[in-house]
Amino acid sequence: MKPTIALVGRPNVGKSTLFNRLTKSRDALVADMPGLTRDRHYGHGKIGGKPYLCVDTGGFEPVADDGILHEMARQTLQAIDEADAVIFIVDARVGLTPQDKLIANRLRQLDRPVRLAVNKAEGMSASVVTAEFFELALGEPWPISASHGEGVRGLLDDVLTGFEVEPEEQVQDHPKFAIIGRPNVGKSTLVNAILGEERVIAFDQPGTTRDSIHIDFERNEQAYTIIDTAGVRKRGKVNEAIEKFSVVKTMQAIEDANVVVLVLDARQDVAEQDAHIAGFALEAGRAMVVAVNKWEGLDEYRRDQVKRDIARKLGFLDFARFHFISALEGQGVGDLFASINAAYKAAMAKLPTPRLTRALQLAVEKQQPPRVGLVRPKMKYAHQGGMNPPVVVIHGTALEGVPDSYWRYLEHSFLKMFKLQGTPLRVQFKKGD
Ligand code: GDP
Ligand code: GDP
Repeated sequence: MKPTIALVGRPNVGKSTLFNRLTKSRDALVADMPGLTRDRHYGHGKIGGKPYLCVDTGGFEPVADDGILHEMARQTLQAIDEADAVIFIVDARVGLTPQDKLIANRLRQLDRPVRLAVNKAEGMSASVVTAEFFELALGEPWPISASHGEGVRGLLDDVLTGFEVEPEEQVQDHPKFAIIGRPNVGKSTLVNAILGEERVIAFDQPGTTRDSIHIDFERNEQAYTIIDTAGVRKRGKVNEAIEKFSVVKTMQAIEDANVVVLVLDARQDVAEQDAHIAGFALEAGRAMVVAVNKWEGLDEYRRDQVKRDIARKLGFLDFARFHFISALEGQGVGDLFASINAAYKAAMAKLPTPRLTRALQLAVEKQQPPRVGLVRPKMKYAHQGGMNPPVVVIHGTALEGVPDSYWRYLEHSFLKMFKLQGTPLRVQFKKGD
């Protein structure tokens, strides 16, 4: 499982600068998708082959009792609660402040790794800059410069020690699908509708409050795992009431799944939070099925309105199949499985080099890449660089200037030629040969 790292510290110490540096690489994979909104507080990253999730907490003002700051503190506390490790950032130029001490008091009580980063340390002597921060008793301070990138690699390597992901421990031999969506769209109702019909083989993986529940079951002699981010737990314990919605939990579920079922509420317009959640799934490259729930009893006018709203705001999900369902009445729930199966198959497809190269040639014949200056990019052959999502690596020359639109054209062409339904696909370019 990917560890989640929370960045904590007073305002202005450089949290978002560090966040941007830590999540940059992954962003580049999803070139500007029209309509894709990002939640800039959560991101994926990878250092030295080790992947992680990163949370930029808004800020931390433990002494404030003013409403907004309180809310910020609450969110920060939730992020800390859900994180596997914390990087506490202080400012080398400002020096140790009373607020830093208060934050440190809290962090010292945590039962998970905390690293102290002394930011803005570029051009300063490491021993001088860190000296005063030893008194925070959070171990050896790490001098870094988030804006220059100095010391960041060492810090991250240290944070990630002990979180080595077991290489390919999950043999993905059947669909594992996560039911995701914002609160109240009907996720638990859908999980219950699905499992109500099926023989539940095992409930397992009790974990921290953050973890989702994984449930194995069979349907038509096909094994599935459902990853439930909201539901079942709600049923049992009355006073547990409604669980807090957790972005980190949603992101972890997306990571664990090979197919994501995004649930939307047809009684409400598509909200920013829907688009953020969809964006997380897309950035993770997950195959997707969209279930537009609460469809029963809506008149034609509203149905049209919902479809147009979705097309406008979630246009970047055009690769996914849409289902219009009622989890409450069980309508359309069974039909989801055909799409889940297709999406799973597409995500795991094996694309042999000769067929890929042929598909590339056909796509280029049909539409040449535009010239970049005087030269036209030349695409010679393609091979598969990964699964889930399928990655197509194209070899050639002068590929640097290929515009996003052509990039997308190629992605669509491969999806179409290989009849891959329900998965995104990524094209990468490689110079030479
Ligand atoms: P946040 O409020 O903690 O998210 O802080 P920001 O990331 O917005 O940074 C606050 C200010 O510090 C900005 O003006 C940054 O450009 C600056 N800053 C961030 N990292 C560094 C650094 O490593 N060195 C220097 N000199 N300035 C930095
Ligand atoms: P969650 O927070 O996403 O897990 O949402 P719940 O499954 O708890 O459902 C939220 C509310 O929506 C509950 O009152 C459900 O009864 C209701 N609901 C769920 N599915 C449907 C549906 O298909 N139609 C209608 N009309 N209401 C539904």
